[in-house]
Amino acid sequence: MATPLDEATDLLQTMIRNKCVNDGTPDSGGEVRNAKTLAAYLAGPGLDIKQYESHPGRGSMVLRVEGTDKKAPSLLMMGHIDVVPADPNGWKRDPFCGDLVDGDIWGRGALDMLSITVTMAVAVKKLLREGWKPKGTLVFSGMADEEALGTWGAEWLVEHHWDDVKADAVLTESGEPPLPIPTRGGPKAIMVVGEKGSHWVSLKVKGTPGHGSIPYKTDNALVKAAEVVKRIAAYQPKLHLGGSWGEFVRAMQFAPELEAGMLSDAAFRAALDKVPVGLARLFDASTHTTFSPNIMHSGQKTNIVPDSAVMQIDIRTVPGEEGPEVRAMLREAIGDLWDQCEILDEDSNPSTASTTDTPIFRTMQSVTRKVGKAEIVPAFTVGATDSRFFRRKGVPSYGYSLYSEKLDFGEFMTMFHGRNERIDQGSLQLMLDLYEQTAREFLD
Ligand SMILES: [Zn+2]
Repeated sequence: MATPLDEATDLLQTMIRNKCVNDGTPDSGGEVRNAKTLAAYLAGPGLDIKQYESHPGRGSMVLRVEGTDKKAPSLLMMGHIDVVPADPNGWKRDPFCGDLVDGDIWGRGALDMLSITVTMAVAVKKLLREGWKPKGTLVFSGMADEEALGTWGAEWLVEHHWDDVKADAVLTESGEPPLPIPTRGGPKAIMVVGEKGSHWVSLKVKGTPGHGSIPYKTDNALVKAAEVVKRIAAYQPKLHLGGSWGEFVRAMQFAPELEAGMLSDAAFRAALDKVPVGLARLFDASTHTTFSPNIMHSGQKTNIVPDSAVMQIDIRTVPGEEGPEVRAMLREAIGDLWDQCEILDEDSNPSTASTTDTPIFRTMQSVTRKVGKAEIVPAFTVGATDSRFFRRKGVPSYGYSLYSEKLDFGEFMTMFHGRNERIDQGSLQLMLDLYEQTAREFLD
C-alpha cells in the first residue's frame, strides 16, 4: 500500500509537471491544472470541495471539513499552487521533470511551495481516511497567483469568498532551515511571523535640455541622477534592533559576541561583516527599511542633454515606516539634490505581522518540539506571502514548515526562484508529521 510519503512524492511530481508558471501576466499560471489535481486527490464521499476560476485559467480550490463544535477554533492550511518561471539554462535537469533522484524530487516549485502544499493535502487526506471528526473546522486551500501579488488567488478569495476561506488561524509558507552559524542551546526551527512591506517609488530628476556638443556647465539630468543613485545606495537608514528583531536574536542564542553586536546600534554594521554575506544581507534587510535603485531611464537622442531622468526604487519597509516616513528618508538620503527631484508615483503595501501570543503559535511550538525536536525561533521574512491578506483581516498567520538536515541554508536560499530547485523526501516526511499533528492538537 502507498504510504503518505509515496503519495506526497507522487502528488508533488504531478504538480511540478503541471507547470503552472506564473510570469506576472493575467493569462499565465494555468493553476486550474493544479487545482483540479488537488481536488481529485482529496475527493471523497460527503466532502465539500470548491474550485474557483477568478480569470480564465487561474484556478484555486478550497476544502472545508466542518468541525463538530461551532465554538472550537478553526484552522486554514494554505498553499499556493503557482510557480515562478525557470530558464533551463544552468539547470542539471529539466526544471519541470519532477524526477526523483537519490531521494530528491527535482523541479520548479519543489521548495516554493508545492512541497508544503502537497504535504498539507496528504496530511488532511490521511486524517479524512481515518474518519477523523475534529471539533474545530479544518480548511485546506490551494491558491493561484501568490507569485504575482495574489490578485487572482488569495486576495480574490478573501474579497469574494471570505466565508469559504475564513478561519481563526492560518498556516502557510514557510519556515527556514537552521542558519549556518553557531548557536547555543538546542536545535532551532525558524518560523515566520511577519513580513516586510514594499513601497515602490518612481522618482524623476529634473534638468534643462541643451546641445550635447557643448556640455560645459549644462544642467544634465542624467549626471545629477547618477549622484542621486549613489546617495540612495550609500544611505544608512535608522536601525530597528528591538521588537521582532530583538526577539529573533535572543531566541537564536548566537555566540555572546555576535548577539551583542546584533543588538547594538553602534556595533551592528561592523558585526554584519563577521557573518557570511548571504546571511548578512538578510540580517541587514531585517533591521531597517531598504532602498535599492533598480531601473533608470533618461535621454532621447545622443546629441541632446537630457532634461529628465526617471528611476524606479525598490523600497522594502519595516513596520511603522510607510509613505510619510519613506519620503522623509528619501529626502534625507538625497540631501541638497532633493529640490531637483519629484516623486511621480508610489505603490505601497504595508508590512504585516502576527503576535506569538496566540493559541495556534503555542500548538506550533509544542508540535515542533515533538516532530522537529527543535524550539521555534520567530522571524520576519523580507519577501511577501499570501499571509498579508489574512493578517489584514486580523487573522494570525504564520510561515510554518520543517526541513531535514540534508537541506542546508545556503542551498535553500539559492534554490528559491533559482536553479536546480529540489526537495528531499526526509523533509517531506517531517512536514507530513508536522501538519498532521498540528491539525490534531489544535482542532481536537
Ligand atoms: Zn512561495
